[in-house]
Amino acid sequence: MNLILLGPPGAGKGTQAQRLVERFRIVQISTGDMLRAAVKAGTALGTQAKAIMEAGELVPDELMVALIAERIEAPDCANGFILDGFPRTVAQAAALDEMLAERGLVLDRVVAIEVDEEALIERIVGRFSCADCGAGYHERFNLPATEGVCDQCGSTNFTRRADDNRETMIARLAAYREQTAPIIPHYEAGGRFARVDGGGDIDAITADVVAALER
Ligand code: AMP
Repeated sequence: MNLILLGPPGAGKGTQAQRLVERFRIVQISTGDMLRAAVKAGTALGTQAKAIMEAGELVPDELMVALIAERIEAPDCANGFILDGFPRTVAQAAALDEMLAERGLVLDRVVAIEVDEEALIERIVGRFSCADCGAGYHERFNLPATEGVCDQCGSTNFTRRADDNRETMIARLAAYREQTAPIIPHYEAGGRFARVDGGGDIDAITADVVAALER
């Protein structure tokens, strides 16, 4: 099964993708995670992407398309993949269509997770994660049971994404509105498209996403 999870920053694409990975035994391909790894490793791509990401803008299409073209060739994608954070522009969506057609692959579903902008800002500005195991937390909605200690691994090291601040989030939302939302009609027309309300309980949202995939 090959899927796209669409939605603005903070909609919960990453959280839902992780759950789908377990359920359907497919891989999550998060372009944001791949870029953050490249920044951390100091590769040429990371060096180019760092300032763009910190400004909340989009990394050039040709770099992103090349990254995905290579990634979907990897053996672990044989059973299917969830694209989380790609495509993000009309040009990326067109390049993906071509890439899939060349490889004889089909897109089984495109699920758009919808959350209003005020809620997205609140989610993003308060979120942080364990620096060791990656478990996600939120200052208001989801603090560790013992203050300062990760519930999952006991670590006391926490981290925040450099772009999870109000100013950058406003730019990320604008990029979503102006450059990513326009790809929705492209997928709506294809008939494999579903919308899911991404507000509220995480388990309920997963149930809605799964229902949309099994429909
Ligand atoms: P994310 O983790 O998906 O919120 O992505 C974090 C940042 O990485 C974005 O704000 C962009 O700067 C960059 N990025 C991730 N995916 C893409 C993409 N498909 N196209 C362009 N830039 C991207």
